[in-house]
Amino acid sequence: MEPHIIELPRKILVGRNVIGKIPELLKTLGIEGRILILSDKTTRGIAGGKIQDLLTGNFEADLEIVKESSLKEAERIGKSCSKPACIIGAGGGGVIDVGKKISADINSYFISVPTAPSHDGIASERMSLTDGNVKHSLRGNPPTAIVADIEILMNAPCRLIASGCADAISNYTAVFDWRLARDRGEYYSDYAGNLALLSARTVMKSAELIKEKKERGIRNLVEALISSGISMSLVGSSRPASGAEHMFSHALDMLGSQALHGEQCGLGSILTAKLQGQDWNMIRDKLKTIGAPVTVRELGIEKENIIKALLDAKKIRKRYTILDKKPLDREKALELCKATGVL
Ligand SMILES: [Zn+2]
Repeated sequence: MEPHIIELPRKILVGRNVIGKIPELLKTLGIEGRILILSDKTTRGIAGGKIQDLLTGNFEADLEIVKESSLKEAERIGKSCSKPACIIGAGGGGVIDVGKKISADINSYFISVPTAPSHDGIASERMSLTDGNVKHSLRGNPPTAIVADIEILMNAPCRLIASGCADAISNYTAVFDWRLARDRGEYYSDYAGNLALLSARTVMKSAELIKEKKERGIRNLVEALISSGISMSLVGSSRPASGAEHMFSHALDMLGSQALHGEQCGLGSILTAKLQGQDWNMIRDKLKTIGAPVTVRELGIEKENIIKALLDAKKIRKRYTILDKKPLDREKALELCKATGVL
C-alpha cells in the first residue's frame, strides 16, 4: 500500500461564543503579523466585523468582502493584499472556499469560521470554486483551525441547516460506493469509512433536535460535518463523503441548478440508495423530518434535468460507483425517480 501523509486541523473550537477566543487562538498557534478576514456582505455583520473588532489593537487586521466563490475572485483578493500571515474565512461555503484557495496559493495559515452548518467543506481540504460557468472541485489544505460558534450557527437559516444535514446523510451512500470500489481493488480505509458513516448516523439520530434548532442538535450536526471533513483529510481524497450522489449533484450544477449542494446530494442519496439496495426510505424520511427537499419540485429542478443529471453523473469523474455497477438508461432513470417518489 502506498504511504500517505495525513494533514489535519490543529485546533477545533466548538461552543457558544467561541468567536471571542480567536485572538487567544492566534497567539496559541504562534501567528503574528497581518490577518486578512474574509466575509461576504451578509456574514460581515454576523461574524467578520466582530472578528475585526476583536483583533484590532493586537493585530493588523483587514477585512475584505468576497463577491463570488470563483477562482477569479480568489486571484483578485490574493493579488490586492500584501501577503497575510493568516486568513480567516468568516462566512458560508463560498467565503471559506475562497479563503482556502488563497491560503493554499500563498502558503498561509487558514482559520475556518462557518456562519452556517451547510456542508462538510467547513472542515475539509476540498474546495469548490467556479471558473466561468464551470464548477471545479479542488484539493487544498485542511484549515489550520476551525471555530464553530454554536450561538452563530443556531441562528443560521433553516434551509442552510437542512442542507448541511443532507450533505452529512449522503455519506451513507458515498461509503457504500467506496466499498464497491474497494472490492475491485481501490484503496479503502475502514477507519475513515466508519467515521464518515458515523457523521451520517449522528445526524439521522438527531433529526428532530436539529429541526427544532436545539443546541444539542446543532452541535451534533456541526461535529458530524467536521468529522466528515476529517474523514476526507485522513485519506487525502473526498471518497468517504462523495459517491454517485455527489456526482449527480455536480451534474446538476453543470445544468445551472440553483439548489444548494447538500440539498442536491441528499436527493441524490435517495436515488442511489435505492440502486444500492440500501434503505432509501429511511434516508428520505430523515431528509423530510429535517426539511430538506425530497422531490424534484421541492428542489426546484425541471424533471428533464434530473434525468439528464442522472445520466451525466458517470461522466463527471472517473470514480467507480453504483452507477457503473448498475448503469442507467433514460427509461431506468425515470423508473428510479418515480419509484422513490422523487418525481
Ligand atoms: Zn458534499
